[in-house]
Amino acid sequence: MRRFRLQFRQLQLSIAIFALALAVAGTASCTSAEKSAKVLVFGIDGGTWDVMVPMIEAGELPNIAKLYNSGLRGVLVSRPPVISPVVWSTIFTGRPLEEHGVDGWATSQSTHRKVKAVWDILTDLEMTSKVANVPSTWPAEEIVGEMLSGFPLSGSTLGGNTGVVVTLDSIGDRQNPPAIRMNVDTLRAVCEKLDENAWSEWTSLKLTNQPNLGATVRVKRLDGGKFYITPVYRTDDGLVISYPPELRAGVQEKIGGPYIPEGPGWSKHAEEDTPKYLYEHLLQVARLQTAGVMEILDQPWDLFIYVDTFVDRVSHPYWAYSSPGDYDGLDAAKAKLYESAVADSYRETDLHLGEVLAGIDGEHYTVIVSDHGFKSSLNKSMYIGTHHFDGVYLVSGPGLKGEDGPRANIEDVAPTLLYLLGKPVGEDMAGRVIAPLAGVLGRAVDTVETYETGGKAGNEFPVDEQTWEQLRGLGYVDGPAPKGAKQK
Ligand SMILES: [Zn+2]
Repeated sequence: MRRFRLQFRQLQLSIAIFALALAVAGTASCTSAEKSAKVLVFGIDGGTWDVMVPMIEAGELPNIAKLYNSGLRGVLVSRPPVISPVVWSTIFTGRPLEEHGVDGWATSQSTHRKVKAVWDILTDLEMTSKVANVPSTWPAEEIVGEMLSGFPLSGSTLGGNTGVVVTLDSIGDRQNPPAIRMNVDTLRAVCEKLDENAWSEWTSLKLTNQPNLGATVRVKRLDGGKFYITPVYRTDDGLVISYPPELRAGVQEKIGGPYIPEGPGWSKHAEEDTPKYLYEHLLQVARLQTAGVMEILDQPWDLFIYVDTFVDRVSHPYWAYSSPGDYDGLDAAKAKLYESAVADSYRETDLHLGEVLAGIDGEHYTVIVSDHGFKSSLNKSMYIGTHHFDGVYLVSGPGLKGEDGPRANIEDVAPTLLYLLGKPVGEDMAGRVIAPLAGVLGRAVDTVETYETGGKAGNEFPVDEQTWEQLRGLGYVDGPAPKGAKQK
């Protein structure tokens, strides 16, 4: 009897231990499940720690600083050619340009991509992606989720991507885009009402030759009787830059203004008046883009990507003013006037990030990446900033703490995103999960042989002439459109 009781006790104990073991196992698997979560990717095109770290240390950029102090961060090394569509395609496919096929300006659109981007992989897995303003995503791709395409885009402006500086008498001049010449009276009336340095509201233009197209501009009064007219942006539904196609119209209705996928270029940076209006108008565009992005944030998603291009578009034309010592013969008074433009673009981008973060419910990882950094031009008489190989990465979220990570490569981002999402990494991807993450999160990296099922052919034709025009306006290309380009 006594012996039986003992055995019974042992049995009870065994059951208790077994139950405890089950409970522990349950907790463990639950914890590791919690460590995969939805992922926000906030891209800062052209973002560099060279500007951000001193600002963070000075108590600025509160939203980036908060993530910086609680996440793994380091340099994301880019690769030549450091061209945004090429590099972003590598970032979101985990593959080198030889494999993804977006290998230069002539092949810089979504139709040129030969492998799956993370949003394609998630689509196969029936997970939802929201993708906004990622370079090389036009034409918009059919995914589970929504997409607002990024540059280069064909036909998003009518007659050039830089805008024009005019006087009241030269609005109708031959060198101005036809869309402006057809609206001389309207534009003159807008100009006459403006005080110096003031901007007009968005003004619709009527196109007598193509009445089905919608077009809009803003005008700024400069000094000396001059006016800046922005690029003529298309607003009609015929311009498809989203998936689903009607998404853009819905976004425009909600934000009460045009959603502009690409603002004015910086190719006229050397012109005397450009710095007076370019920052301000880039800011107007960047705010419309962020407002648009906020409109697609409020539904369920697994992966949300917004590439904010404001820092890049400002750094090209204004970098010299914040580093005047690196250049020869730069007008000191002018440098003084615009010395804070680059830092201001980071302050503004930090606000955009704050807005996006405030719009997200629940636990998630935030991944900040840039495709390249910036540095002063080696040509000291060219007053522009140029791309630097060192971009940034920062991963913040559950289980992570503020620490410096190793230098990572642009190919490492896609595997890292899949890992954070709790999905296996493609063994045929060139990149690897950024090294310390798996150790810190205590979850092994799963792999799958490949996600490339079905195969994408990838278009071999170069971009069309209108796209080339946009790239020329942006200052990225020169010369005629590549052979084989077709007018759309
Ligand atoms: Zn750039």
